[in-house]
Amino acid sequence: MSYTKPKFEEKYGNFIGGKFVAPKGGQYFENTSPTNNQLIAKYPRSQKEDVDMAIDAAWEAFVSWGKTSATERASVLNKIADKLEEKLEEFAAIETYDNGKPIRETVNADIPLAVDHFRYFAGVIRAEEGSATELNEHTVSLIIKEPLGVVAQIIPWNFPLLMFAWKVAPALAAGNCIVLKPAEQTPSSVTFFVEVMSEIIPAGVLNIVHGFGPEAGKPLASSSRVKKVAFTGETTTGQLIMQYASKNLNPVTMELGGKSPNIFFNSVMDHDDDFLDKCIEGAVLFAFNQGEVCTCPSRILVQEDIYEAFMERVIKRTKAITQGDPFDMNTQVGAQASNDQFEKILSYIKIGKEEGAEVLAGGEAYKASGEYEEGFYVQPTILKGHNKMRVFQEEIFGPVVSVCTFKDEKEALEIANDTLYGLGAGVWTRDAHQLYQIPRAIEAGRVWVNCYHDYPAHAPFGGYKKSGFGRENHLMMLGHYRQTKNMLISYDKNKLGFF
Ligand code: NAD
Repeated sequence: MSYTKPKFEEKYGNFIGGKFVAPKGGQYFENTSPTNNQLIAKYPRSQKEDVDMAIDAAWEAFVSWGKTSATERASVLNKIADKLEEKLEEFAAIETYDNGKPIRETVNADIPLAVDHFRYFAGVIRAEEGSATELNEHTVSLIIKEPLGVVAQIIPWNFPLLMFAWKVAPALAAGNCIVLKPAEQTPSSVTFFVEVMSEIIPAGVLNIVHGFGPEAGKPLASSSRVKKVAFTGETTTGQLIMQYASKNLNPVTMELGGKSPNIFFNSVMDHDDDFLDKCIEGAVLFAFNQGEVCTCPSRILVQEDIYEAFMERVIKRTKAITQGDPFDMNTQVGAQASNDQFEKILSYIKIGKEEGAEVLAGGEAYKASGEYEEGFYVQPTILKGHNKMRVFQEEIFGPVVSVCTFKDEKEALEIANDTLYGLGAGVWTRDAHQLYQIPRAIEAGRVWVNCYHDYPAHAPFGGYKKSGFGRENHLMMLGHYRQTKNMLISYDKNKLGFF
């Protein structure tokens, strides 16, 4: 199967009240493909007035959507999943062209995971058990979960449609209406989504406002008319969004940055077998999705007695990564999502070199050929150094990994936890003691043991420390999109008699 570049309109509107509408101020921004630096389309440069219009439409829709039964909402989510699946290849091509990630990932991971997310929440919302407790023979406590109303969601560019699905599926399942702002770098797949889902999702239930953070994101997160703000993005942006939401005492969920340690104990080298091969692959996953993953295993910690033998294999595998044309099914690493990101990554590689890190692989931009010559590609890069260096401490968000050694479990944990972040971590070992005790001692919300980069819809995901709070995925996510009403009902005919 070969994939081709998708076609786009010259410009798109915001999606408000079930239709595309022009921004009130008439301003647009240009969205380009990082694969070749060519214009894709123009999108609204929305302002507060556009956000307000979307919030109005969402409240209007909430009057009926907020009263739908779980069965009705589940049916909508299932239809969304079916339609996404039917158009999987179109969505994949759009995502690849807009974000730069290789087609093998969008076809095999991003879009199927988004499909599964809608199916999961369609099932979860109907599987819930009610909770009524008899407090005494006359009194019953009923716990009712109500939707919040209109919720605000702001998402990043690294998994445009998947981050969208993570936000939208539980919010809709819980009965809320949504105003969502996609990242300005990657507005395309979300736009295609609302276009093809317009016959499935009632008008006004899901509204999209495009634009930049300070102009469109800030008024959305600051609005007193939204009842929750869900954010995924950088830690510093998350701090601002919490300030905006705090004025309205609005609840927030924060999925932020990371600097995830990936620890390899010496037992991984005990045999030259499939398990060792799996571990090597686990190390090289730093380059998955061009390293633009919040849980990118961006710090490799290797036990010192296996360092040479283990890293020799990791370097060999890294140098064998196929890179370039994102539409080629064999390409493993595509383009970085934007010129800004490309420049940022190269500047970090420079910083690493200046700090004295040794370059074990890559270390430069990658020159793609033919029609992709003008795109933003970086070689998968391995830097050897120590955990005090900036390249070990700061989120690079590129295909760059920083490697160091450790002597024993104690030192491995000290290095792993010596970070502001606490999102993901990996532990690789054949030792039964280590595979339980080490993850328990790591300060991170998700620890993969003898695996990495798996994101099932039914496993809770989220951060410790400056990586945020609240969880995505899993049925516990519904808790972030509902409020609890307790009804205490008395069946006692007798008077109260205490006042
Ligand atoms: P970003 O914070 O720059 O932008 C994210 C979104 O916030 C965008 O839609 C942007 O327009 C908006 N925004 C920016 N400034 C704003 C403001 N002042 N007010 C309101 N909205 C504003 O992040 P990014 O560069 O798009 O994404 C990369 C970051 O996202 C990385 O730090 C990565 O680790 C993180 N991330 C975290 C997770 C997770 O689940 N923890 C998942 C994916 C990405």
